[in-house]
Amino acid sequence: MNELPSFFSVLGVVFVILIFIFGVLLLISIVLIYSILRKKKIIFPRTTLFLLDTLYYPLKRLVVSLNLDESVVDKIEIDIRNKILKNEYFSSKIKDRIVVFPYCLRSVECKAHVSPELGVNCIKCGKCKIGNFKEICDENSIKVFIAPGGSFVKRVLKKHPKSSVLLVACHVELNEMMRILSAKRIPEYGILLEKTGCIETDVDMELVKDKLFEVR
Ligand code: SF4
Repeated sequence: MNELPSFFSVLGVVFVILIFIFGVLLLISIVLIYSILRKKKIIFPRTTLFLLDTLYYPLKRLVVSLNLDESVVDKIEIDIRNKILKNEYFSSKIKDRIVVFPYCLRSVECKAHVSPELGVNCIKCGKCKIGNFKEICDENSIKVFIAPGGSFVKRVLKKHPKSSVLLVACHVELNEMMRILSAKRIPEYGILLEKTGCIETDVDMELVKDKLFEVR
C-alpha cells in the first residue's frame, strides 16, 4: 500500500516549483531588458512593467552582476509609465498641474524654511534654478513643491487630490514616486535629473517647462 506523501515532501515540491517560476520570470525580465536596451523600443510595456515592479530588488542585483548599470531597471519603468500615462497628464488642465522637485536640486546656501507639510518654502533667492522656475509658476498659479523625501508626494496629494503631477528626481526616487502615483491613478509625468548626487543636482529646466506647459 502506497504511503501518503508527507507534509514536508509536499512543501519541498511546492518550494522547488516556486523557485523554478521565479527563475523563469527573472530570465524573461532580463531578456526584455536586453531587448529594450538593444532595440531602444519597449515591447509588451505592461507585462514588462509588471515584471520589473514585482522582481525589482532581485532584478537590480542580477543586472549589476551582469555588468549593467542598476539604474536601467528604474529608467525602463519610468519610460514605460511616461508612455502609458502621458495622455492623461497632457490632457489635464495646466492650472491643475503641480510640480515636485527634489530637495537636492537646491543650492547648498538655500535659506528657505523647511516643513514636513509643505516641504521647502522657496523664497526665490536666485541661488538655484528653482527660484526662476517658481516665479513663472506663481504667475500661472501653478504650485511648486520641493520634496524632502520620496513619500512627501503622498502628503501633497492629500491636500491636492485632483492634481496631475510633474515629477523631477533621480531614477530611484522618481520610479518610487511614479509607482505610488500610478497606483492611485493620478496623472503624472516624470523627468530624470541630469546630474544626480546628494547636493546641488541638476535638471534640464527647459524640458521641465516644456512638459509643464505642453497640452495635447
Ligand atoms: S531659489 Fe529657492 S530653493 Fe533655490 S536656493 Fe533659493 S530659496 Fe532655496
